[in-house]
Amino acid sequence: MPSFYRTQTLKIEEQPIFSEVNAASAEVWNSCLMLMNFYQYQRGYPHAHRDFYFGKDCEGWMDKKLTHPLLHSQSRQAVLQRYFKSWKSYSALKKSGSIQQPKPPSKRKNDMTTRFKKSAIRFVEGTLFGKRVELSLAKGQPKIDIPLPSNFDMSKAEHIATLDLCYNYGQWTLHFSYKYETETPGTGEEVVGVDIGEIHPIVSHDGQDTHIYNGRYIRSLYRYRNKVLAEFSQTISRCKRHSKRWWKLTRRKWRRIRKIDNQIKDALHKQTSKFVKYCQTKGIGTIILGDLTGIRNNMSYGKRANQKLHQWAFGKIDELITYKAKSVGIKVKTIDESYTSQTCPKCGNRKKPTNRNYTCSCGFKYHRDGVGAINIRQKYLGHFGAPVVAEMGSTRMAPPLGFRLEVPVASS
Ligand SMILES: [Zn+2]
Repeated sequence: MPSFYRTQTLKIEEQPIFSEVNAASAEVWNSCLMLMNFYQYQRGYPHAHRDFYFGKDCEGWMDKKLTHPLLHSQSRQAVLQRYFKSWKSYSALKKSGSIQQPKPPSKRKNDMTTRFKKSAIRFVEGTLFGKRVELSLAKGQPKIDIPLPSNFDMSKAEHIATLDLCYNYGQWTLHFSYKYETETPGTGEEVVGVDIGEIHPIVSHDGQDTHIYNGRYIRSLYRYRNKVLAEFSQTISRCKRHSKRWWKLTRRKWRRIRKIDNQIKDALHKQTSKFVKYCQTKGIGTIILGDLTGIRNNMSYGKRANQKLHQWAFGKIDELITYKAKSVGIKVKTIDESYTSQTCPKCGNRKKPTNRNYTCSCGFKYHRDGVGAINIRQKYLGHFGAPVVAEMGSTRMAPPLGFRLEVPVASS
């Protein structure tokens, strides 16, 4: 039976132990860095060798060497897994050549999110102290005891997979990740192609209709975020670093940013939910997403911060579609989307669109964002470059239908 994960975030009150635990995770991470240098040196590799991924053997060797007096053994292992995952993605990136200069994990950390696995998590519901979650540390250490809100759904406890203790912009949060089985395996036969773009977050084509989910509101939030950041950094730069006023403004800045980020997140949730709901009613069995690594590298960014944000949003859209679709039994597949925005769906000629309409010498004319979605679908079905317009039985395709997100204008 297919399964899917769902996450939930919960804000919690600070406890002194939290920063100790996250500092401990960072210490384990720093030990990984040191042990890797030692491992490489022992085997005659130059110091901080970067071109080779040391696999399972090294992981097992390191696992035996790592200890920590405070952390639960599985929380310690989670750091190790994260360290090697980071090596794996570094070597994959290096191989694919898609990013200019990938870096292996080499930066020391002062604090790091701590992960607790199932056996270290216990939910308690007492009459006196209400709902709580207990997190285990190393043997002999007292457990961390965190109160939960009274409306917390305890029935989810059996599905819990991991729990992360995070610190972000002055706020402590718990990230629960739950594992569920899919209730209804997908029955739909239809296939929908999805183009995730900068202008419109989602453009879909299901063989008949093209739908465009408007991205104007989300883009305005991004612009607003950048504006707020710029304004604050100007004021903050005039203060003495770490002075009382500096801290006050910095805290205020992140409070504002966190609020905008939540609005962006909320908008992405609304758009993706709307799309998945539509797929369900249409009997869609498979959603085809274009592989986004291409877009990320083709886009030019003004600032580093911008880039981070865009990457986050793109990653978020396909992540959200994937988990929402899987939870209702729709399959999600990813294909390489090269040339899908340039190829004419009618005659197969390649031409880069110059404005918002795609026009081909064969007479084909369509909204440029729809073309990408049509071709992604065709590519998956194996008819890429074959005429779709004829297949659809009409000389003129239905114009794309737009969906605008009905939301209030961003306010401070
Ligand atoms: Zn053409």
